[in-house]
Amino acid sequence: MVKIGTVEKKLKEYLPEDALSFVQDGYNFALKCHEGQLRKSGEPYLEHPIQTALIVADLKLDANCVVAALLHDVIEDCDISAADIERDFGAEVAHLVDGVTKLGKLAKPVSEDVKHKKNVKNVDDGASHIQSLRKMFIAMAEDIRVVIIKLADRLHNMRTLDALAPDRQLSIAQETMDIYAPLAHRLGIWQLEWELEDLSLRYLDPDKYKEVTQLVAARRDVRERYIKKVIDILNEELKKTGIKAEVYGRPKNIYGIYKKIQKYGLEGKEFSDIYDLLAIRVLVDEVKDCYNALGVVHNIWRPIPGQFDDYIANPKDNMYQSLHTTVMALDAKPLEIQFRTYEMHRMSEYGIAAHWRYKEGAKGDDLRFDEKVAWLRQLMDWQRELSMPDFLDMVKTDMFGDQVFIYTPGGEIKQMPAGSTPLDFAYRIHTDLGHHCIGSKVNGKLVSLTYKLRNGDTVEILSTRTNRGPSLDWLNSNLGYVTSSHAKARIKQWFKRQEKATNIDNGKALLEKEMRRLGIPLGHQEEIALLFNYDDLEDFLVALGCGEVSTNQIVSKLSTPSDEPEAGPKIMAQPPEVASSIRVMGVGDMLTHVANCCNPVPGDEIIGFITRMRGITVHRKDCPNVLNEDEKERLVTVEWGHAGQSYPVSVKIEAEDRLAMLRDITTLVSDEGVNIGAVSTVEHDDGVSHIYITMHITDIKQLSRLLTKLEKVVGVLSVARIGEGKKKKV
Ligand code: MN
Repeated sequence: MVKIGTVEKKLKEYLPEDALSFVQDGYNFALKCHEGQLRKSGEPYLEHPIQTALIVADLKLDANCVVAALLHDVIEDCDISAADIERDFGAEVAHLVDGVTKLGKLAKPVSEDVKHKKNVKNVDDGASHIQSLRKMFIAMAEDIRVVIIKLADRLHNMRTLDALAPDRQLSIAQETMDIYAPLAHRLGIWQLEWELEDLSLRYLDPDKYKEVTQLVAARRDVRERYIKKVIDILNEELKKTGIKAEVYGRPKNIYGIYKKIQKYGLEGKEFSDIYDLLAIRVLVDEVKDCYNALGVVHNIWRPIPGQFDDYIANPKDNMYQSLHTTVMALDAKPLEIQFRTYEMHRMSEYGIAAHWRYKEGAKGDDLRFDEKVAWLRQLMDWQRELSMPDFLDMVKTDMFGDQVFIYTPGGEIKQMPAGSTPLDFAYRIHTDLGHHCIGSKVNGKLVSLTYKLRNGDTVEILSTRTNRGPSLDWLNSNLGYVTSSHAKARIKQWFKRQEKATNIDNGKALLEKEMRRLGIPLGHQEEIALLFNYDDLEDFLVALGCGEVSTNQIVSKLSTPSDEPEAGPKIMAQPPEVASSIRVMGVGDMLTHVANCCNPVPGDEIIGFITRMRGITVHRKDCPNVLNEDEKERLVTVEWGHAGQSYPVSVKIEAEDRLAMLRDITTLVSDEGVNIGAVSTVEHDDGVSHIYITMHITDIKQLSRLLTKLEKVVGVLSVARIGEGKKKKV
């Protein structure tokens, strides 16, 4: 077992004498509390808090944190109260231990007593993860040190995960990958991040982990010789220009390489280049030296275009700063080189923990560094303002998705989730700006509101003074106006504040339009409301009208088959593109074809009709031909087979007769990856064309998305699916 002496030795490097005896007291207290307790591995329990304290000491955190790490499990495991700790070690240690204990409790999946109860469904992993995340964030807002100690605790548990049963290993590793590693990343504590990632990967994908470690080990000597040559050249050149610098090779972590291999795989590239496994780092005293050293490097080796990042001028929001470049180094091998000052280096290794590193005389206000962390402050604002589901959604998509950096016209940098639009940006700046947004300019050019923002874009929002509000279309995810849940929540909020009658009108219009488009008789509105558990149609219309329920949800609800088992033989309909075959379970293949009168697509409720000569015809359940069928005994239950095939659907578009209309429509359809079967246009005297298109659709969701987009084409007046009993005449 590791001795407290090891911790003390580490502490001596940065803490004064009196802190050491304080830590010794903490150790004695923990020793007494955990006496006789063993870990799953058979070791004395005390090993765990000591190791946790060692990790905390590695981050050079203050004595209170080290003591709290030593005591972090005593409340949970040993009948000790926070008050007991406060009496012996002061309020701050008690507060830290209490915080870590609360996090531990909350993050546990399903408590044992719940599992024993019958019929209790397992808590959805994703949801419970998000819940624990939320608790983490709240704890962070109070005192980030609590979360850092928790990360240290988790790191040691990960290092000793072998002692647990395989299923526990998996779920803990997954949780670490989903929550703890991203948190360490957000806090900028690279030291913790890479080790948490590597350890998780070892359990989540043992084969790949082994493969990568072997890959790293295999050509180590070649690689090291190469790196040494590069470093020698660099040192020589830097010396000539009088820049004082420290140059060394940095191994990338296993998980980083693993991700790189996956990425290469997606791009169809082979990962064989051992030179991808290393990066060179140049440490200098001053910021200007970073740029000077960069110049020196670019002078020796050609930089690869597009591979230069200036995180000094544009720090990442976890405060990371460095210059990154990739050059064609010796033997024309691409090599990544990073430049940073010692101060930046400290920030990148310790991240936010650097703020709590022991400083003589640092007290009170100096400890409130979270004030300086913009994203954290913003997160807490949102947490106060948004409803819980919106907040959780926001955390999931906005905090852990990839990010882009956007400039305001004034040159201020805003960080946005990747995929954000100008409208997202407007809402990010100010809610009112979002509500009044009518257009935007990116890098001086007018763009559509659905433009996807790119790193480095300068975005100017055009707004109107008139008292108009957002459009419900903005909430339609098919149209892609907003992606951030922050903006969505603001828009919904606006609609909720409108008059009930307005919302009912809006909802009714939306519902009827959607039903008409999908070819559902309008009389079925109450049934659709019921699908969403609304007994009262009016309430449902309000929900639709204020964006609470979206028309996309209607489409998904309708395309989810009901759970109720149906009587009669089950037949799997699997009509491929042209001919159709059907599998009758237990019998073999039977001939089917899709009925011409109603052209059902997967997601439609269907029924089969046994014909005399042509096998089974598959109709929509509400097809008039089926409803009026006299020989009901010839109807059989059929089900859709596997997805992935496409079905012809006919759509009628009424549009202004303008130049290139047909081209715009067909381009849009093919851009969606949908094949067009037939197109015909009937011109009318009044300047309105009727365009009939047959498209090969894979499911009803795709159809709905397409119809929505077609409606947005300039000059299109209406779009509707056709083929309810009546055959189009063209
Ligand atoms: Mn623990």
